[in-house]
Amino acid sequence: MIEIWGKDKSVIGKSLEDALPELKGQPFIDLFKKVWNEGITVSGTDAAAELEVGGELQTFYFDFEYRAVKNDTGNTYCILHTATDVTERVLGAERVQNLTEELRASNEELMAANEELNASNEELSESQQSLRKLYDDLAESDLRFRSMVKQAPVGLCIIRANDLYIQDVNDNYLELVGRKRNELENKTIWEAIPEAAQLYAPIMNEVIKSGVPFMAKEHELILVKEGTPEPVFVDFVYEPMLNDGKVTAIMVLAIDVSAKVMARRSIEDVEERIRLAVEAAETGTFDLDMVNGKMLTSDRFNIIFGFDRQVPWEMYAAVIHPDDQAGRNAAHQAAYENGKLFYEARVIHNDGTIHWIRVQGKVYYKNEKPVRILGTLLDITEFRRLQQQKDDFISIASHELKTPITSLKASLQLLERVKNDPSSELLPKLIDQSSRSMHKISALVEDLLNVSRASKTELRLNKTTFNINELLNTCCNHIRAANKHHLVTRGDRQLQVYADEHGIDQVIVNLVNNAVKYAPDSMEIHLTVSKEGDMAKIAVKDNGPGIPADKLPFLFDRYYRAESSGYQNSGLGLGLYICSEIIKRHGGQIGVESELGHGSTFWFTLPL
Ligand code: ADP
Repeated sequence: MIEIWGKDKSVIGKSLEDALPELKGQPFIDLFKKVWNEGITVSGTDAAAELEVGGELQTFYFDFEYRAVKNDTGNTYCILHTATDVTERVLGAERVQNLTEELRASNEELMAANEELNASNEELSESQQSLRKLYDDLAESDLRFRSMVKQAPVGLCIIRANDLYIQDVNDNYLELVGRKRNELENKTIWEAIPEAAQLYAPIMNEVIKSGVPFMAKEHELILVKEGTPEPVFVDFVYEPMLNDGKVTAIMVLAIDVSAKVMARRSIEDVEERIRLAVEAAETGTFDLDMVNGKMLTSDRFNIIFGFDRQVPWEMYAAVIHPDDQAGRNAAHQAAYENGKLFYEARVIHNDGTIHWIRVQGKVYYKNEKPVRILGTLLDITEFRRLQQQKDDFISIASHELKTPITSLKASLQLLERVKNDPSSELLPKLIDQSSRSMHKISALVEDLLNVSRASKTELRLNKTTFNINELLNTCCNHIRAANKHHLVTRGDRQLQVYADEHGIDQVIVNLVNNAVKYAPDSMEIHLTVSKEGDMAKIAVKDNGPGIPADKLPFLFDRYYRAESSGYQNSGLGLGLYICSEIIKRHGGQIGVESELGHGSTFWFTLPL
């Protein structure tokens, strides 16, 4: 109780009002008087009390009871005040633990009385009267103790030390262990509760031997209540009761803390779920205290900023790109006014690499002053890269389309001039030119349509079983007809695949066209078929210049072109992306092996 009050032993002997002056104006003193005057029991749960602990007035929550304890004649001679500090339970946090202290104090009192009695024994001859009084004290103390055992709102069981017989047990204890009184009385503790013997008998023996109390926290028991087994959590103590320095009994004191444990577990559960959600989104989080400039950050936050641990606020601010500092400051300024923080900026890591971040936060105010910002952080480098690629693509696409359109326009203007002169030599040339421009335009438009179909998942597959070797031999006739490159087909001639023939034809044509386009001097282009497990593998190999290793990972990205200039024929960076979409939809894989100066091999696999 002293601990709960935040006082020391100097309160003993004082009136409650003097001991706890801060209770003035709170309902407790009046309640106390009422219990004393009317001889009743008053209890409360989760009752808030203001107590001065450590020089500071704080709010605590208690489950408490004022119980008028009566003598034989029915008169109240004291009030048994028990209280459980449930502040942490009420606040949804960790521990509830007390009552032990009170009973220990009471035990100490009993011991003190005992010692006094012992001491007085020596003076027996001198003072019969004082002995009488001490006997009375002891008797009263014992009585008081017994009535406390009975009335205490926690489970209590007194066990004799020498033979472990149960001497006294209250109803709360019986309820906690799920036993009837006759199952415990006149038995040793381990006869009564054999399932606990293995674990706890050695511990109890040790307490008896050493006189040192043992405490267990949140021990899980399975109790059968009304026929159904139920897990309960208890805090319990083995408190040795000493006489003459020898342990004569063990007081087992147990409190059911299931509600507290369950409450905490559900909080931990929610926290875990939030943590997982934040992790899944790869979101960093921060909590900035604007009063003292301190900032708490998550690991992910630190990593995004390029640090391997938490650093002071100013250090995070310092790695923001100089060109983005002004924007960031403006965003903070705006946040103080409208309560919401949002900005995107670049940060420069120690190794010089630049990363894009997006910061979002909410401002909290006290007396209309911003005091705290809670927020999240995302690495949006990849998002920015894709956006940039898309912007680049639009300019490339317009540019690519503009060239054939301009020449088509020119040809048509010339045709307009010579249309009435069928003998003009220009006529066939102009028609030929127009048709080539037109061809280029329609190829580009076809690419664009394919990609938009692919991204809208409209690419529907019409699967049949066909011989892959036959497809390789019949596709790409335009290359064979041009007679510049030699297509060499090799490998398993019987292999059948289950796939969309038109789609696969498109993939092969794309790969062969690329070989012709990017390896124009490679006279032979090798097409091979092989069986790998339950897949067919098709490879297109050229002896061209190859592709730099750092570009390989991006080749199948949308709009990616390894050579942004140099090749007249380079397209929109869509061909390989479309191929990979088609193959992925078949459940296959697509890849490339290439080395500068040693040609490139593009391959894909298909289920048989
Ligand atoms: P594009 O429409 O630009 O040809 P692709 O997606 O078909 O787009 O190809 C992406 C890039 O991959 C091309 O820009 C080119 O630089 C490179 N590439 C593709 N095939 C080859 C190859 N056989 N040899 C060298 N580079 C190639």
